[in-house]
Amino acid sequence: MKILRTKEAVKSELSILKNSQTSIGFVPTMGALHEGHLDLIKKAKLYSDYVVVSIFVNPTQFNNTEDFDKYPQTLDKDMVLLKEIEVDCLFLPEIQEIYPRTPRLKMVFEGLDNTLEGEFRPGHFSGVGVVVAKLLNIVNPHKAFFGQKDLQQVAVIRQLIYDLSLDVEIIALPTVREASGLALSSRNMRLSIQEKKEALILIESLTFAKSELLAGKDWLSIRNQIEDRFSSQNIRLEYFELVNSATMEKINSIEASASCSICTAAYVGDVRLIDNITVIED
Ligand code: AMP
Repeated sequence: MKILRTKEAVKSELSILKNSQTSIGFVPTMGALHEGHLDLIKKAKLYSDYVVVSIFVNPTQFNNTEDFDKYPQTLDKDMVLLKEIEVDCLFLPEIQEIYPRTPRLKMVFEGLDNTLEGEFRPGHFSGVGVVVAKLLNIVNPHKAFFGQKDLQQVAVIRQLIYDLSLDVEIIALPTVREASGLALSSRNMRLSIQEKKEALILIESLTFAKSELLAGKDWLSIRNQIEDRFSSQNIRLEYFELVNSATMEKINSIEASASCSICTAAYVGDVRLIDNITVIED
């Protein structure tokens, strides 16, 4: 596995491949790798000849400096995993390499970034948009792989690709979970054993709400029940919303949209977790 730390090194490594028609797959990550990341990488290997993974904890997408400072970093372990899975190239830039100067560019994804994560993490999707545009520009892959665990992020990135006419195919893959149902997340490393049990309220509520919806129950009364469940367990719920899976628009019934999902975010202790479930597929 090649470990490259500069834009120039990545560009020169990949320019040789591009001339030889090799297809390049790209998996951007913030490290602290788990099976969810590895699943994206395995799919990238399946669908491309050469796979680049980046590890970069992007400061501009954290609206909360404490969250950034506490973001788990397990670089040595990550590198072992990436070598084992035979990734071709790891792009490992320092902050200075990506942001030699503080960027002035802010991105607005009208209608997409003012709800859910965008509402509770102001500026988050601007940071995501700018860093993903930069990384895609450096790696210039044929395909880039993202997790549906971050459903709104996928919608934002699809819009970015479309609006900037970028020549890359976005492949979104299902959420990988622990046997308990808990969605894998780098932030889970910060949960105690007890908190990990408490965190199951997210997937249990999503599953319950989905089955109630499909049984014809009213969304607003389902959501009230869920809110009561969270408050009785002393878990701070930020949102629990039924949305159109493509536009992220909040809806109040499953008839209102062709494909819809329920998205949620909650604090378990001081760890903020997100999850979602598809109710009706495309
Ligand atoms: P992160 O390192 O959290 O920025 O995530 C890097 C990529 O992995 C993003 O596209 C995430 O959506 C994806 N990802 C994170 N957790 C999971 C999971 N449990 N299953 C599948 N993909 C995931």
